Amino acid sequence: MASDAPDVAKEIVPLLRLTFLECAALENRHIPRRRFGQNFLTDNHYIGRIITAIAPDAGDKLLEIGPGLGALTDKLMTKTGHLHAIEIDRDLAARLRQRFPETVLTLYEQDALRFDFTALAGGDWRVVGNLPYNISSPLLFRLMEIAGKLRDIHVMLQKEVVMRMCAMPSGKEYGRLSVMLQARFYIVKLFTVPPGAFSPVPKVDSAVVRLLPLHEKAPDVGDQKIFNQIVAAAFAQRRKTLRNALATFFREEDFVATGIDGRARAENLSVADFSCLSRYLVYRQQR
Ligand code: SAM
Repeated sequence: MASDAPDVAKEIVPLLRLTFLECAALENRHIPRRRFGQNFLTDNHYIGRIITAIAPDAGDKLLEIGPGLGALTDKLMTKTGHLHAIEIDRDLAARLRQRFPETVLTLYEQDALRFDFTALAGGDWRVVGNLPYNISSPLLFRLMEIAGKLRDIHVMLQKEVVMRMCAMPSGKEYGRLSVMLQARFYIVKLFTVPPGAFSPVPKVDSAVVRLLPLHEKAPDVGDQKIFNQIVAAAFAQRRKTLRNALATFFREEDFVATGIDGRARAENLSVADFSCLSRYLVYRQQR
């Protein structure tokens, strides 16, 4: 009897005046959880475009963040033969396990923000995902730390976040996220995805972006920790001049020595300028 339940529900549900939640429960449908940013991709056109952009190949080491109901998972796995995925939602993880055996899916049922990415074996990993928008920036910062282990990243994010990632100096979208990511990755905005491609429909546009690690071509920042601190401090007070915002790090003569104008603001500095300031501080501390 139990195995007939979904069919019975399909016949009965349209005859009853049920709420969305009651329908979902009867049909054993997943009820999207807003706290996990669950807007599931349902439009096959965009699913196809994302898969084409990723171009998965047999044997690729793919890690999907937030597979959800498996809109991308299924198609990726068909090409690569195996997939690793991190999913925080217990119910979704159970559904995924039911659908995909362990031989094709290695599932980590946990918070991607707490996942130990350094434990991923070897390099050449490809990270993909329609990311939960509420954790996209911290997640990108985590991925930045393992740039050396990655071949590429393809993620869908809120369009505004993608604009900030790709932004060039002197615009209002240029900020800490732009500098930190561009110091590690070559970033390409691929295409925009409208709200209607998801269920439930989000309030914002989304965009798919590709990040290619610069590896040995990354700018020499002297010391990564110092670089992070300088960039964070400069943008924490982005309306102030560098002279004021970075007063704890640099004196006027330091700006003169680096050739960077202390009257400029953080948004006027390129990634190369920030790298130069960071290298100079390392040099000064070692003198
Ligand atoms: N990939 C699916 C798709 O395209 O339809 C789902 C995308 S949905 C925007 C985000 C997914 O990430 C959900 O499955 C959600 O449960 C999961 N998620 C949210 N926060 C997470 C976290 N901190 N760690 C891992 N997964 C998370």
